[in-house]
Amino acid sequence: MPATSAITLVMPEAVDDAVAALAEFGPDGAPLAGGTWIMRAPIRGEARRSAYVGLGRIAALQAVDLDDDEIRIGAGVTHVGLVAALSDVPQCRGLVTAAAKAANPAVRQMATIGGNLAAWEFPASDLTPALLSLEAAVELRSPGGTERVSLERFLLRRRAVEPGILVSRVVIPRRPLTTGHARLPLRKAGDYPVAIVSAAASMDGHGKVDDIRLAVGSVEASARRWPGLERALLGARLDPASAQELARERSGDFAGRDSVEAPAWYRVQVLPALVRRAVEAVLASPR
Ligand SMILES: Cc1cc2nc3c(=O)[nH]c(=O)nc-3n(C[C@H](O)[C@H](O)[C@H](O)COP(=O)(O)OP(=O)(O)OC[C@H]3O[C@@H](n4cnc5c(N)ncnc54)[C@H](O)[C@@H]3O)c2cc1C
Repeated sequence: MPATSAITLVMPEAVDDAVAALAEFGPDGAPLAGGTWIMRAPIRGEARRSAYVGLGRIAALQAVDLDDDEIRIGAGVTHVGLVAALSDVPQCRGLVTAAAKAANPAVRQMATIGGNLAAWEFPASDLTPALLSLEAAVELRSPGGTERVSLERFLLRRRAVEPGILVSRVVIPRRPLTTGHARLPLRKAGDYPVAIVSAAASMDGHGKVDDIRLAVGSVEASARRWPGLERALLGARLDPASAQELARERSGDFAGRDSVEAPAWYRVQVLPALVRRAVEAVLASPR
C-alpha cells in the first residue's frame, strides 16, 4: 500500500483567522469549502495540498444580505442555500435556476459559490455565466485588506491569485433585469453541462431591449460574455427565434474546447438553441 502523508486541517471561526492561516501555509495550503472539487483531485491526477483551511465554521461566509443597491452573498453559501435565499428575487431567476440545476442534489448541498468561482480549472460552472450576466463583483480578502473586483476581471486573474487570498463575498448590483439560464447536460458527460447560456435583459416602455448581457459557459476554458450578440439584440424586441438566428450567424465568436465528454464543434453548434432557450426563460421570468 502506498504511504500517505498527513494533511493538516484548520477550522477557523473568523475570516481574518482564515486569511492569516492561508498566508502562513503559503503555496502548501488552500481553502477547503464544500470539498466537492478538492475531493476529486486524485481522479484528475492532481496532488492534494499538505494543508487546508476549512471555511465551514465561519458564520460571516454563510450570510446573504439584500438591500436596495446590492445583493451580497457569502462565499460559503451553498447551491441549496442560494436557491433558498434568492428564489423570491425576480432579478435572480437565472442564478437560482443555475444553482438548482447544477450537478446533483448531494453536490448542491455541499458545493459553495466561492469554491465554484475559485476552481479555475473547472470550465463547466453554472454559477459563473449566471453571475457574469448580472455583472457581479467578487470581494477578495488578504492580509492587506479587502478588494472588490468585477467577476470578469477575477476570471482573468484567478489562476494567478496569490496563496492566502480568500474569496469572501459575491456582490450583485440590484437592477430591474429579467434573467434566464439554459444548459445542456449530456448523459455521456456525466453531471457536467456541455454548454451553458445565461441572459439578463431589461426592456423599455415599447418592449424593446435597452440593456442585455449574455454569458456563455462550458464552451471554452472559462465562461465569458458574448458582446457581439448583445449588440445585435439591443434596440429590438426580444424574440427567441431571431435571437437563435443572430446567435447562429455569430457562433464563430467561440472556438470551443475539446474534451472526452464533447468535441469543440458540438459545444459551439448547440449554442444558438441554448440562446433561444435562455431568451424564452427571460421572457417567462417575472418583472
Ligand atoms: C458529480 C459532480 C457534478 C458536478 N456538476 C456540476 C454542474 O453541473 N455545474 C456546476 O457548476 N458545477 C458542477 N460540479 C462542480 C461543483 O459545483 C464544484 O465542485 C463546486 O462548486 C466547488 O465548490 P466547493 O465548495 O465544493 O469547493 P472546494 O472543492 O472546497 O474548492 C474548490 C477550489 O476552490 C478553492 N476555494 C474554495 N473556496 C474558496 C474561497 N472562498 N476563496 C478562495 N478559494 C476557494 C479551493 O481551495 C479549491 O481550489 C460538479 C461536481 C461534481 C463532484
